[in-house]
Amino acid sequence: MAAPIQARTAAQTAAPEHVREPVLAYIGLGANLGDPAASLAAAMAAIASTPGVTLTARSALYASAPVDAGGPDYVNAVVQVHTVLTAPDLLARLQAIELQAGRERPYRNAPRTLDLDLLLYGDAHITSPRLEVPHPRMGERAFVLLPLAEIAPQRVPQDRLQAVAGQRVNPYP
Ligand code: AMP
Repeated sequence: MAAPIQARTAAQTAAPEHVREPVLAYIGLGANLGDPAASLAAAMAAIASTPGVTLTARSALYASAPVDAGGPDYVNAVVQVHTVLTAPDLLARLQAIELQAGRERPYRNAPRTLDLDLLLYGDAHITSPRLEVPHPRMGERAFVLLPLAEIAPQRVPQDRLQAVAGQRVNPYP
């Protein structure tokens, strides 16, 4: 039997409790083995195709020397998303994308790496064993702050940028 008109109207106008307001979040991407630019492009596509996530801005690609490690330069970028996922759910999705990138190998034992960090999740401060937001090391890393400043200058204090000015980060060719 059809629901009474009044009841149907009320159900349609009331926001269900599980519908969340989208949160503006920032994700740092890095890769330094295989074809890093292709890994980053694939990761951005995977992030953009995630249900509950809309990719709304992406920085240019940057090249940076590895911190505390040898090996080829990293390619880095930052993306902005609007998401209705919780921060832990977003992190879990990022980790799944990292895992997938590690498995997609063109040949046996081919090097391939992808690092995805949840940098900011709205204005949230989260400290749990598996998730810290803002990302605890982002303030010391030029390869995070420069691309972040490109798409969200209001989230990067000028003195932080000055503090990391000595680190080598260049536009990716
Ligand atoms: P890494 O190997 O540097 O990517 O670190 C991954 C580990 O850092 C995982 O165990 C995560 O649970 C943890 N982690 C804590 N906070 C964050 C964050 N904001 N973004 C990404 N990983 C995080």
